[in-house]
Amino acid sequence: MKNRKLLMIPGPVEFEPSVLQALGAPTSSHVAPGFMESFANSLDMMKKVWLSPSGQPFIIAGTGTLAMETAAANLAENGDNVLVVSTGYFGERYAEMLKRFGAEVTLLKAPAGETVPVEDIEKELKKKKYKLLTFTHVDTSTGVRVDPRPIGKLGTKYDVLTVLDGVCSVAGEEIRQDEWGIDVVLTASQKAIGVPPGLALLVVSQKAMESWRNRKTPVGSYYCDWNNWLPVMEAYSQRKPSYFGTPAVNLIMALETSLKLILKEGIEERFARHEKTGNAFRSAFRAMSVKTIPSGDSHSANTLSAPYYPEGVNGQEFLQAMGSMDVTVAPGLLPELKPKYFRVGHMGSVNSADVISTIGAIEAALIRCGYKYEQGEGMKAALNILK
Ligand code: PMP
Repeated sequence: MKNRKLLMIPGPVEFEPSVLQALGAPTSSHVAPGFMESFANSLDMMKKVWLSPSGQPFIIAGTGTLAMETAAANLAENGDNVLVVSTGYFGERYAEMLKRFGAEVTLLKAPAGETVPVEDIEKELKKKKYKLLTFTHVDTSTGVRVDPRPIGKLGTKYDVLTVLDGVCSVAGEEIRQDEWGIDVVLTASQKAIGVPPGLALLVVSQKAMESWRNRKTPVGSYYCDWNNWLPVMEAYSQRKPSYFGTPAVNLIMALETSLKLILKEGIEERFARHEKTGNAFRSAFRAMSVKTIPSGDSHSANTLSAPYYPEGVNGQEFLQAMGSMDVTVAPGLLPELKPKYFRVGHMGSVNSADVISTIGAIEAALIRCGYKYEQGEGMKAALNILK
């Protein structure tokens, strides 16, 4: 009997055994040749996974919030206008954070389950000169996915730097950073990248690096300042020693292992696999007449689902029933809807067996909680997609 539950939350996710082995390897010096090689390989591979051959990658110890803060601290100055496009909890977090750096923040907030229309974003950009625009590719609180393409185009048209919070999307959802003209694509290790929590990862366009070089005031965070980190990234990419803060040696070795696995699968194949998985869950919920927060498939994430509990189903009881069937899913996160929905993460190395087990458990748990419907309909719909 496996002494574990299947972990199907939107991060941390389940990790490949070889990635976990890298974490358990003897820790080397942070300037040992083997580690410098791992660091350099990881920087190189990030550019491939982000599809940004021209970008500047950063690997910094910290969480996704630190990745957000690194972009904010280096690119926003006191008094700069910043437009935050929010589709949930993490958009609002970005707005609050940017204010700490003195930015004049305008928040464009979508109703839960919707996106902000591109026309509304453009209308706002016409009103005044913005320095920065941030948006959440997939908001983990709502499961809403934003299309980065038109936003990248608006960034070019209005000369605004665009920052994509990809904590719940990078290496799962399609992202073509260079082609789409996105200036910063940031993420964390613990989701579709497939490495335990603890790394903040960013790839920054040369345009954004130039804007940072032309700052009038020092960066307001010592730890985040690219003046401290850029020389370290440049040295490691040439397999040369450097130091600012001790790198998370084992996590970076694990990152190298996971990025190799991602590229071995193929980034296009990985996007397609996540899309198929997302479709399987969407079809299953539809067949069970279970509504999800995103109001349409075109803006539903492939990396997680956010289904409402059907009428009469108690959330606590449902989550307990899932646990008793050895599948862990997550409760709601968006404050105004929290008790009304749950979240299923399906990113990283999730395979068909995980999808089938999870949908089977959801069906059984809903029935145990009193939901009346034709049991098996969800599974049938999912299998039609997975077959
Ligand atoms: N942005 C998004 C979209 C996220 O999903 C998360 C984490 N769930 C974060 C930012 C913050 O990341 P972390 O919890 O690693 O700080």
